[in-house]
Amino acid sequence: MDIARELVPQERRKPLFDDPLKLPFGRNFTDHMFTMEFTPGSGWCRPRIRPYGPLQIEPSANVLHYSQEVFEGQKAYKSPRGEILMFRPQENARRLNRSLSRMCMPEIPEDSVLEAECALLKVEERWVPAQKGASLYVRPTVIGTEAALGIKPSSEYLFFIILSPVGPYFKEGFNPVGLWVSDTYSRAGSGGTGEAKTGGNYAGSLLATLEATQKGYSQVLWLDAGEHRYVEEVGAMNIFFVIDGKLVTPALGGTILKGITRKSVLELAPELGIQCEERRIAIDEVVEGIASGRVSEIFGAGTAAVISPVGKIGYRGKDYTIDGGRTGPWARKLFDTLTGIQYGELEDRHGWIYVVK
Ligand SMILES: *Cc1c(COP(=O)(O)O)cnc(C)c1O
Repeated sequence: MDIARELVPQERRKPLFDDPLKLPFGRNFTDHMFTMEFTPGSGWCRPRIRPYGPLQIEPSANVLHYSQEVFEGQKAYKSPRGEILMFRPQENARRLNRSLSRMCMPEIPEDSVLEAECALLKVEERWVPAQKGASLYVRPTVIGTEAALGIKPSSEYLFFIILSPVGPYFKEGFNPVGLWVSDTYSRAGSGGTGEAKTGGNYAGSLLATLEATQKGYSQVLWLDAGEHRYVEEVGAMNIFFVIDGKLVTPALGGTILKGITRKSVLELAPELGIQCEERRIAIDEVVEGIASGRVSEIFGAGTAAVISPVGKIGYRGKDYTIDGGRTGPWARKLFDTLTGIQYGELEDRHGWIYVVK
């Protein structure tokens, strides 16, 4: 790819933050962004790195009405040797393409996605925080831009990548969260778009999340849309349970987002000494298991928090506290191991680390 560059002069670049560990999630952006356009005549074209700023799109653009949109979420880390590292970015590029194809949008060669990310990260190298816990969040996004109100796939698209320096998800160490189980709302149904990382899935989840926070919980634990009986996932994370000493997570089946953190946990856990199982998990099994002590840990897994311990679950008006609301040993061990690999401190035995060159 021949990436054009229109760079902000050194003296006009934004100042860096004093304490990256205090940065909020996704509020600050770097000096530049990557953009590439798709037109029916040229396919993906005009790749360029240019100053971060507002996009010009028509008010009639497809994405603003019918939500043809997909995104990814990944992070760049600084290793102790000063390299910029990414964690399994090939998996993100592959998933971006699966989401694109589900949303009837043109795919982007995986190599081009990686090349664009690397080129932008090299330009913005000084924004990758060196402190462990902080990182540079990478948000690739594709939107339908054709100016037309007919309901059909857009003929034109924009692919952009923006970068946001972020602090750790939990500022003062782990803080186990409370989840509210919704048995009326659902996130994704059979045959729907649950497996695609597309904005509409989130728009549809906001009301339930608002109700959860009004009740004092931090996220919704989603059940299946058909029977409201089986656990699926949490907000923007996949969910894990330690049941009878085994690590159990809901089996994928089209409605659950295929998390890369989820996949990594499943690959790592047996090596750390815990057996894994992917299967259907009824919410009744979970709440009874918490009450009887068979469920000893619950945690979410996703790029933003990596591992997010769950302290309590609210279901049908009753609260179930897991092991006194403490962070369990497996959540801690998996968090330490995954972040150790991501920051280049632990040996990368799986070949998960990608050095940005
Ligand atoms: C992104 C996302 C996840 C987590 O995926 P990771 O690849 O681990 O970051 C889980 N659930 C939903 C709904 C998501 O959008």
